[in-house]
Amino acid sequence: MEILAKCPKCDAGLPVHAADAPAAIKCGGCGRDIPLSVSQAVRADAGIERCPVCEGGDFYIRKDFDPKVGLTVVIIGALISAGFYWFGRDLIAYSILASAALIDLVVYGRLKDVTVCYRCHSEFRGSYPRTANAFDLHTADVLEVEYERRIGRR
Ligand SMILES: [Zn+2]
Ligand SMILES: [Zn+2]
Repeated sequence: MEILAKCPKCDAGLPVHAADAPAAIKCGGCGRDIPLSVSQAVRADAGIERCPVCEGGDFYIRKDFDPKVGLTVVIIGALISAGFYWFGRDLIAYSILASAALIDLVVYGRLKDVTVCYRCHSEFRGSYPRTANAFDLHTADVLEVEYERRIGRR
């Protein structure tokens, strides 16, 4: 399992390999020491029951989507179709736009799920079975406030 630990102080994302994760890492952004308590299940890529960064037990699932990739496809599609539109080939222009959107959709559907910690936003990628639910705004509001109070950001 790959962990993207989020620094509690500056929100920098710090990649950690769960199998040989150290007891603590140092943030490359602000120099803060971040203790990690990686559980057996996380180390073995068997599942996530406790967050190694904040020790919270609440997670949600989202698609591992890189918005930059999707946007690039749409922009390139739009540019090409604008060219055709200029020369009066509206039908070709529209079909290129449509296929660009379709490519995005296909890419999105094939994406793997990533598990995210509600409290500290650390991300977990691996072949473990996904057990968390989809994102819930109310849960996020409650847990984020609780966590930020605890680490003294509020
Ligand atoms: Zn930091
Ligand atoms: Zn966490």
